[in-house]
Formats: sequence, C-alpha cells, structure tokens
Amino acid sequence: MKEHIFLASPHMSEEGYERDYIKEAFDTNWIAPLGKNVTEFEREMTEKLGAKAAVALSAGTAAIHMALKSVGIRQGDYVFCQSLTFSATANPITYEGGIPVFIDSEEATWDMSPAALALAFEKYEKLGQMPRAVIVVHLYGLCAHIEEIAALCKRYGVPLIEDAAESLGTTYQGKYTGTFGDYGIISFNGNKIITTSGGGMLLFNTPDARERAKKVLFWATQAREPAKWYQHEEIGYNYRMSNIVAGIGRGQLKVLDARVEKKRYIYEYYREHLGDLPGLALMPLGEDTHSNCWLTAIQLADDCSVRPTDIMTALEEDDIESRPVWKPLHLQPVFADCDFVSETEELHVVDAENGADNSVAGTLFGRGVCMPSDTKMTDADLERVCGIVRGLFSV
Ligand SMILES: *Cc1c(COP(=O)(O)O)cnc(C)c1O
Repeated sequence: MKEHIFLASPHMSEEGYERDYIKEAFDTNWIAPLGKNVTEFEREMTEKLGAKAAVALSAGTAAIHMALKSVGIRQGDYVFCQSLTFSATANPITYEGGIPVFIDSEEATWDMSPAALALAFEKYEKLGQMPRAVIVVHLYGLCAHIEEIAALCKRYGVPLIEDAAESLGTTYQGKYTGTFGDYGIISFNGNKIITTSGGGMLLFNTPDARERAKKVLFWATQAREPAKWYQHEEIGYNYRMSNIVAGIGRGQLKVLDARVEKKRYIYEYYREHLGDLPGLALMPLGEDTHSNCWLTAIQLADDCSVRPTDIMTALEEDDIESRPVWKPLHLQPVFADCDFVSETEELHVVDAENGADNSVAGTLFGRGVCMPSDTKMTDADLERVCGIVRGLFSV
C-alpha cells in the first residue's frame, strides 16, 4: 500500500525541543495565556527576524486584525489589499467596517504589482479617499517587490502591513520578510512552515514599535484598563497566545532554518525533474531573494496539453495532496462589490467554470497548481509525484 503524501503537514523537531518547553510549562503550572514561553517566544522571534517588537496571538488572522486596529482603521476606510491571496488576508478589514480595494499581481513575483498599486493610489487620491493601509502578501514564500511597494506607501504616507504568513524565513537582500513594512504578520497554523497547531504573531517595525505593541497587547487581552476593578473604555478581544502553544513555537523556531532548507530542496527537485516539460514553469524565486519555498507552485501555459485539474486529479487518485493556486479575492462572490485595480485594461472571464479572468492574478489562478511540499517527504515520495506528472505529458 502506498503512503499518503501531504501538501504540507506539521513537522516537530527530531530532538523533541517542543516537548521540553511544554513539559516546563506543565512543571511550573503555567498552563495559561501569558507565561515565560510567550514572552520568550516573542523575544526569540524579534531577535531572529530583526523586528523591533512582537506580540504572540491566537492566529495570523488576529494579527492582521490587530495591525488594522493599530493603524486606526475606522468604518468606511479603504484598505488596499493584494487580490491573489487567502481570504484571511482581507477578512479582518471587514471586521472593522473597512472596505477592501483589491490590487492585481505582477508576473515577476506573483505578488502585488507596484504599477497597479501606483494606479490605485492615483485613482483614490483623485477621489480624495486615501486608504488607511496597504496589505501586501509574500505568497508561497515568494518575496514581493517590497522596496518599490514600501517606497510608494511612504510617498503617500500610508502604513504598510506585510502578510508574511506564508513566508517566515524568506529574506530579501538578507533581511527577513515581515520586517520591511510598518507591521508584519506571521501564522503558525498547521500547514505553515513552522506550526504551533494554531497561532500567529504581529511584528512591529516603526520607531514607536514598543508603544504600539503595548496597545495591541491591551486590546488582545480584553482591553482591561489599569484599575483595581474591571474597567473598560474600549472594545477588547481574547486573542492572546497560550503558554503551551508558545512552547511549541519556541521549539519549532529552532528548526526553522532546517525546514527552509528542506523546502528549497523540494523546489529544486521539482525544477530538475519537471522543469523541462513543455509548457510547465515553476514559480519564480526572484532576484536577491532567499525564498522559504513554503509551497512549490507551478504554472501550465495556455497551450499546454495538460490542465491543472489533470494534475490534481491524477495525484489524488494516488492518494497525494495538491491544491489549486488561491482564487483571487476580487473574483470571490463575498467581495463582489469591491473595487479591483489592475494594469490589464479589458477584464473578462476566461473560464466560466471557476470564474478565472484575464488579470495577472486570475491567470496565475487559472493555470496554477501547488505541488506537495511536505518537509517529511523523501526522495522516493518526490520521485513518485514527478512520475505521475511526467506520465500525463507523455500520453
Ligand atoms: C494562513 C494565512 C493567513 C492566516 O493565518 P491563520 O494563522 O490561519 O489565521 C493569512 N494570510 C495568509 C496569506 C495565509 O496563508
């Protein structure tokens, strides 16, 4: 019987670091939100990445929500957000009554197009409606053109939030993603490069990072005012990470570099064994970037004999997981009323079944597949996957 191959699954350290930290929490009876593991996890992460401050939270989604609170989002505010991403990037905008404006991707990075972002700024400046924030995503561990995007945000005086949920460990010119924007967010969900079963972190990079972190900590712990009784002057949230969960995180952080290395090995394996197939291309890793290659995604050219669904179906028949590329948020029914800014002039649907359009994000979605990229995969597993894909091309 063949073994199931995961897309990406939790991978605890062989050394058992995570268990040791959890055991310590048990032994000292710190089974609570707060405790040594939480504060140490925040400190270790800020040191590793070079952020100014960090707050550990219950999820990456909560971190995005808190970043938006921190920039002072109000009902009716616009927020520019990358369209090609998971819905969790944009959902928190609506929690606060904000209105997402989706921005198209560029082929070079698959992430937010600086040219489309510039168009959006020009358009909304004319309307007298500057956005409250910009959210850029480093999809699949690919690094966006972050310097160009940060420069545009600076020029318009708009704060930048980096959704680094998928790119923990990715560097651009030696600097970690999540530390370029005013804020960076990380996720430790079960399928991410390191996991705590569930959790997230908000990174702060502004000169007043410590004050901002303090305020987020306040909101994330029920907004309890410093008084001798329970005093509340703002709406609070129960978003704090538990000391147990943080223990897993501290252990996982020790193996982050090893996980990045394995993910990059998986990418290289696919490049060597599938890169020659006609009409198949791997995601572009980008100049000056050391990508964590969280998932290796591929693209099939329009005239390629094999379709993304052919690959996903063939793998599934052999008990192997793969996934479509995220369906862009501007094509999601739940965001149907939102504006979308793209360099593509005449937008139209090219696939009636899945709704893919001819924007860059829509095209990447329509032609893409995320290949199994589990760090526990052996060479034999990788060979099995590549064999199935190659088989589809030879018929
Ligand atoms: C996973 C993910 C999130 C959300 O993180 P959670 O910890 O699951 O809440 C946000 N953005 C992107 C791009 C993600 O992949």
